[in-house]
Amino acid sequence: MDCIFCQIVDCKIPSDIVYQDEEVIAFRDINPVAPAHLLIIPKKHIPSLTHLAEAETPLIGHMVKVANQLARKEGIAESGYRLVINSGEQGGQLVPHLHMHLLGGRRLSDAIG
Ligand code: 5GP
Ligand code: ZN
Repeated sequence: MDCIFCQIVDCKIPSDIVYQDEEVIAFRDINPVAPAHLLIIPKKHIPSLTHLAEAETPLIGHMVKVANQLARKEGIAESGYRLVINSGEQGGQLVPHLHMHLLGGRRLSDAIG
C-alpha cells in the first residue's frame, strides 16, 4: 500500500505527530495554510468519507472530539477554528485517506467554496 497517510501511521515517513490513540493520529500539515493546521486521520485506511461504513460513523465523532481537544491545546478554541473534510475530486481531496483539517490562528476566509 503506497498511501502516504498509512505510511505516516506506520512511521515509515516522518511527521510531526501531536496526538495519537488506538483509533486516530493527528499531525501538522506539511504545507500549512494557517498558523495552526493539523490533520486528524483514522489509523485504518478509509479512502474518503464516501467509503465510511455506517458502523464506522462514530469514528467521525471521535475525530471531532480529538480536534476540539487539540484546538484547546493549540490555544485557538476561544478565538475560533474550522474543521474541514474534503471528499473526492470535486471536493478537493488530494490524499485518498480520510482526514479532517483543523485550521485556526488567523481570521479565515468567509468563503466555504
Ligand atoms: P486534502 O486536499 O486531501 O484535503 O489535503 C491533504 C493535505 O495533506 C494537504 O493540506 C497537504 O499539505 C497535506 N499533506 C500531503 N502530504 C503530506 C505529508 O507527507 N505530510 C504531511 N504532514 N502533510 C501532508
Ligand atoms: Zn491510507
